[in-house]
Amino acid sequence: MLALNVHAGYACRRSGACCTAGWPIPVEADVAARLHADGALPHAPLDARAPLDARASQDTRGPAPAGAAGVIAPGPDGACPFFEREPDRLCAIQRRLGHDSLPSACRHFPRIALCEADATRVTLSHFCPTAASMLFRDDIGPIEIVAGASGIAGRDDLEGFDARATIPPLLRPGVAMDAASCRLWERLLLDACNAEHHAAEDALACIARGADGIRAWDARASALAEHSARIAAGEPGMETGDALASRCSRRTPGRRQAPRWVMPPAQQARLFQAAVASVPAGLPRPALPLDLDGASRRWVQPAWPDVRRPVNRFLAAHAFGAWSAYLGEGLRTQAAALAVALAVLRVEAARCAGAAGRALDAALLHAAIRQSDLLLRHLSSADALAASLAAVERAAPGDLAGAMGLEMAA
Ligand code: SF4
Repeated sequence: MLALNVHAGYACRRSGACCTAGWPIPVEADVAARLHADGALPHAPLDARAPLDARASQDTRGPAPAGAAGVIAPGPDGACPFFEREPDRLCAIQRRLGHDSLPSACRHFPRIALCEADATRVTLSHFCPTAASMLFRDDIGPIEIVAGASGIAGRDDLEGFDARATIPPLLRPGVAMDAASCRLWERLLLDACNAEHHAAEDALACIARGADGIRAWDARASALAEHSARIAAGEPGMETGDALASRCSRRTPGRRQAPRWVMPPAQQARLFQAAVASVPAGLPRPALPLDLDGASRRWVQPAWPDVRRPVNRFLAAHAFGAWSAYLGEGLRTQAAALAVALAVLRVEAARCAGAAGRALDAALLHAAIRQSDLLLRHLSSADALAASLAAVERAAPGDLAGAMGLEMAA
């Protein structure tokens, strides 16, 4: 079981964010049976158990998901009826019946798993305030993949996107990758996000070039893994992977580097709307802030270099174990999905900073990260979003950065 070092050591700090988010919680049949058998959850009002049958589940925002016996409907204030605010923000089910008796969604949150043939990769939803805080930690160095991370490993019940029996991710439409190239691409993604002296937009541009470099593989010239290794190592003309990271570090020790790529507010808005459009009917769809352009230019852009480390880590957390690898038609779709993630974060940063009327700082970025993952991880449909991004696979060579909303800085 693999995770990013930035997420290692995750533990629930009982913020209550997930238990008060207004989410209907699907309940599996065995969990429902245990709840009914217990029958006397003292702090759980009657309507907490009432939805646990097919009739009552129709009171929620949709039918119970496949495999669920029912749904725990949130109360009018958005809180789960089993949530005990006092004295210690605990779940009544967990307190009385133990962690294993929780509904699956509660046992897994905020973990998001991609089950692959070689390992299960686990990232976190930063809608959880504790997970979001981990992006700001200063006790780790560059982003690394770690095995057996505490708080992540040791769980054999993780569910997620199961890719163990499917073909590998696509390189480009109709061409599957090999395992070695998948790992080189993964390394390239994380190395791009690791170059702490450049902005996330520069990391995205690097990823775009890497994607196009690897997807240009010609089977008559070399093996794919050999070709991918050359691209990931940064062959002449390719600013990717370790080469980019080390070059940035060498050139700008401890100093800001002027961004070479930017994502203008109009492009942020376009990509944000792509995420919103993928939200299934019946779920809330966030709107763009009224003054995105003004708030972005006044409050976000000047402060953007100061928050590059948590922003780049946010990007890495979306690159690692990304379902888009299997839902999309190639590396370009994965790159475009990362651009959407960054665009959503830029929009939410502008919303938070504009509402506060002050420059983006760590506290505002933390709030923006949470809102971003609410949309990206919990409202947006990953497969609908990947399908909507498929056009990038057919864009002309060299057009990928533009499709990802990137422009060269003036
Ligand atoms: S069942 Fe328990 S853990 Fe799940 S949302 Fe309700 S209070 Fe939270």
